[in-house]
Order: sequence, then C-alpha cells, then structure tokens
Amino acid sequence: MKIEKDRVVRFHYTVAETGGEPVESSKDNGQPLAVLIGHGNIIPGLEKAMEGHEAGDAFKADVAAADAYGEKRDGLTQRIPKKHFGNARLAAGQQVVLNTQFGPRAVTIQKVGHSVVDVDLNHPMAGKDLTFDVEIVEVREAQQEEIDHGHVHGDGGHQH
Ligand code: ZN
Repeated sequence: MKIEKDRVVRFHYTVAETGGEPVESSKDNGQPLAVLIGHGNIIPGLEKAMEGHEAGDAFKADVAAADAYGEKRDGLTQRIPKKHFGNARLAAGQQVVLNTQFGPRAVTIQKVGHSVVDVDLNHPMAGKDLTFDVEIVEVREAQQEEIDHGHVHGDGGHQH
C-alpha cells in the first residue's frame, strides 16, 4: 500500500542538519512515529518525500528550510521574567521548552540577565536545511475517526 492522503504511516526517522551530525532519531526511544498523511502533522517537505513509498522502503530526503521549519525570522526576541524558568540553570544558546498561551514551545536562550531572560522564539531548526533518513514500517488506511480528528490513534499516536 502506497503512502497517500488519509493513510497512516508508521516510520522511523533520523534527522540532521544537511551535512551535519544527527540531532534526533525516533530510534532514541525505540518507537516509530505514526502520522496521518495530508493533515499537516509533519513538515511539508518530509510528507512530500514520503508520498508513493511503501512499508519496507528506506530512503533519504533532503528538505530545504522553507519546506521544513521555515526561514529564521528577525524580531522574534522576547524578554521574559526569569521566574517563568523555575530553578533551571540557564545559559545562552541553550534550548528550553516554555509553556506559552499557545502551548509548549521550544525556544533558544539568547541572554540571561538578573531578573529577565531574552529568548529567540524561532523554532530551533528554523532556517536550517535538513536531511532525513526514513524507514517506512507500516502503511494502513486511516479510520474515519482519525480523519475526523486529523491525527492518528493508538500506537505512536494520540491515546484517547
Ligand atoms: Zn483523536
């Protein structure tokens, strides 16, 4: 069965900045990721690269920044009271997850002051060309309920 819209794909991936060392892999926790295709659940360039593949396929996909996490934008620095970071030790360049009104968000610390911290709200991978190593584990038709919700239920997906 080929990967296309409204099918569920379970896959392993390793991602690196193009030409660099791997930064993240689904194999770190052993579980393949499960996504519903055609519902914006993964970056557009990766979804496009997966289309037409089947279970058992292994391939590399180069995804330009614009089709990954977008270009890095200027002016996304925000000054945040230090108390929002709890007791964590903070250093410039460090990535932390902040709970915002839009939900958890990965940010990069730019500067640590006495009572405030400057953070860059760009996604840590914004502006970076990425290379994915992908192994397709399973392809199946989505259930109607999954299509209605726009995400996968069960293994590797939402548990509810
Ligand atoms: Zn659901």
